[in-house]
Amino acid sequence: MIRENLKTVREKIKDACKESGRKEDEVTLIAVSKTKPVPMLMEAYECGCRDFGENKVQELVDKWEQMPKDIRWHMIGHLQRNKVKYIVDKVYMIHSVDSFRLAEEISREAGKKGVTVSILIEVNVAGEESKYGISCEEAAGLVEEIAALPNLVIKGLMTIAPYVENAEENRQYFEKLRQIYVDINRKNIDNVYMAELSMGMTGDYEAAVTEGATYVRVGTGIFGERFYAV
Ligand SMILES: *Cc1c(COP(=O)(O)O)cnc(C)c1O
Repeated sequence: MIRENLKTVREKIKDACKESGRKEDEVTLIAVSKTKPVPMLMEAYECGCRDFGENKVQELVDKWEQMPKDIRWHMIGHLQRNKVKYIVDKVYMIHSVDSFRLAEEISREAGKKGVTVSILIEVNVAGEESKYGISCEEAAGLVEEIAALPNLVIKGLMTIAPYVENAEENRQYFEKLRQIYVDINRKNIDNVYMAELSMGMTGDYEAAVTEGATYVRVGTGIFGERFYAV
């Protein structure tokens, strides 16, 4: 199942690139493997996946320990400051930085471990109350503040669009995130060159690709539905 799903997702990304005049290698597919067991991740690995996304620190660390070391682990979920120390030297990128205090903690822990951490700033583009992320208006200011911290590099922006039936409804938010990204790059802030836009999930990744996503985060579309124990 995973093999076929991956084939479908990759073809759709390729088509969306073609449609929007982008190169296929501009888009990286992150296999969002939260709640799924290691053998399923290994199946995706065997099919060529090297980028995996997790949203819980403990789960990321467990899987990091069990899986091949050439995997790039992406922390895509809300991150508590007291857990930063467990992952700074294991993650390839943290997509969910939305406050100066969190960035400060990442900077401090990265310094202790002697690593540089790549981060994205999470923007709540749709202004949903239930979501984490900085507001559109505050994004540039936060980037500027964080850019002064050592041991981390801001690589771009991330958003989680609303859950919608029709992906076209989210196109406006992807466009908006891209606009914020372009505006920030024009400011020529020291230490900041944004190159990544992490947007699009199973329901809307094709729209996100045509609007400029460089990372799409697909879980259900690869691994199937998630079942949460209650
Ligand atoms: C779970 C999750 C995804 C993947 O969601 P699907 O709809 O299963 O593709 C993407 N991004 C974030 C931040 C997530 O938490």
